[in-house]
Amino acid sequence: MRQYWGPHAEFGILRVADDQTYWYWYGYAAMPERTVLDDELGAARERFAGWAAPVHEVLAATAPDVVMRHDVHQLPGGLRRYTTGRVVMIGDAAHGTLPTMGQGAATALEDGPCVGLLVGAPVAAGGRLAPALDGFDAARRPRCRALARSSVASGRFGSHPGGGWQQSVRNSLMRLTPTSAVLRGSHAAMGWTPPQPASPTY
Ligand SMILES: Cc1cc2nc3c(=O)[nH]c(=O)nc-3n(C[C@H](O)[C@H](O)[C@H](O)COP(=O)(O)OP(=O)(O)OC[C@H]3O[C@@H](n4cnc5c(N)ncnc54)[C@H](O)[C@@H]3O)c2cc1C
Repeated sequence: MRQYWGPHAEFGILRVADDQTYWYWYGYAAMPERTVLDDELGAARERFAGWAAPVHEVLAATAPDVVMRHDVHQLPGGLRRYTTGRVVMIGDAAHGTLPTMGQGAATALEDGPCVGLLVGAPVAAGGRLAPALDGFDAARRPRCRALARSSVASGRFGSHPGGGWQQSVRNSLMRLTPTSAVLRGSHAAMGWTPPQPASPTY
């Protein structure tokens, strides 16, 4: 995947099949929430007119009827607890975060097996539900909160700054950042492995 950062926006391009490319942009749009434009593709072409050639190429190759644009919402910090009563909250409902690290769906998918391993397994073995739910919350909330914080930081550094000197400073800092530091950050986000099934508490 290639990602381009520019004033108040980022643009991502990912080839998903030999004849299909997925692209997205995320950024600040100076318009009221729920605004629908007659020509979303035209607006995107206009907005990214000064960007790199591959951005123009994918926009030029896109049909107008396949473009979707949505307002982006986040739950700053996420819920104070991911479980309440007999209910477990997962995915964006528990920890909706900015898309700047591409971890929203990933953490929602992590939540799924964790419900089975940390709640389902101990309860099926005869354990009480309440401690199992506490265990799920204790395992998931710190990780998802940390990723949400990193997503905000990544946005502030990457796609939120305006044009001019802010872009120059950001680009210079990026050039100075060792690849190993970037890889360490990526691994912290994406190197997740599922927990062992929790033991029942009677
Ligand atoms: C621009 C952008 C790029 C992103 N890129 C990435 C990425 O690269 N990688 C990544 O991991 N994540 C990415 N994400 C985040 C990802 O899309 C979300 O985190 C993920 O979709 C959350 O999944 P979810 O199932 O929790 O919620 P949702 O996908 O919102 O699903 C909830 C579903 O519940 C339905 N629903 C709501 N209310 C009801 C109701 N009362 N009854 C029945 N159904 C209901 C909704 O219609 C919806 O279908 C991106 C997000 C954005 C905005």
